[in-house]
Amino acid sequence: MTEAVILTGCLTKMAVVPGHPARYTLRVGEHRLDLNARLGRPLRLTWTGAIACTHCGRATKKSFGQGHCYPCFKKLAQCDTCIMKPELCHFFQGTCREPDWGERHCFQPHVVYLANASGLKVGITRGTQVPTRWLDQGAVQALPILEVDSRQQSGFVEVLFKEEVSDRTNWRSMLKGETQDIALVAARDRLLDRLSAGLANLRERFGIEAIRELDEVPRAFDYPVLEYPRKVVSHNLDKARQVAGTLLGIKGQYLILDSGVINLRKFTGYEVAVTA
Ligand SMILES: [Zn+2]
Repeated sequence: MTEAVILTGCLTKMAVVPGHPARYTLRVGEHRLDLNARLGRPLRLTWTGAIACTHCGRATKKSFGQGHCYPCFKKLAQCDTCIMKPELCHFFQGTCREPDWGERHCFQPHVVYLANASGLKVGITRGTQVPTRWLDQGAVQALPILEVDSRQQSGFVEVLFKEEVSDRTNWRSMLKGETQDIALVAARDRLLDRLSAGLANLRERFGIEAIRELDEVPRAFDYPVLEYPRKVVSHNLDKARQVAGTLLGIKGQYLILDSGVINLRKFTGYEVAVTA
């Protein structure tokens, strides 16, 4: 069904499941909208001016750390610097903001992977977060290469890999769909070889079994995109409250409209009216 609808509520990141192509669901408050069914049709998002913290629900003038109020941003372990830079984990100093949360989320097996969203990159994720993590990045290929016991260990491994490979995605190239296929198994073997001394050091530190090589096959992903933009122009609800256009595609957490692209994740917690 593709009749016109108006939904109002706070944005959360789109739900996405793999498929040919991946299937995206827009989440606005309690409302759900199948976005694949809206391809080629007009879509409008209007920010009401309100932002609600995704953790406590409190109204906030500004969003901190993708959808939090300032008190939550300063208080929650998931907003701490060590989430982005796990090698800075300070749990063992007794200063974790929420030790229980840390035990549930950080002291769990993590995967180090290679992915291709705009070229070869290395990344880490909790074992349960794949393949969502890759779809959220707009990766067209991914290969888990190592499994480790904790988030901190995955951070040390990632720091090591960064000597040889980027950990960033160029979101403009990702959105232009210019990505070339990469032989990920060969890239893995080359990197494991080049970094073998560094990996041996980490195994000496954390135990021989702490960093385990995985023997997986590369995954491939495709996205519901009718047409990639030649030039990437981005919408920003903080500057213009209304974003409207024809929906040409969805990739990563971006909507591709004929009028420009919008990273919905950046506007988590923003209360919007969606007309589709
Ligand atoms: Zn809050």
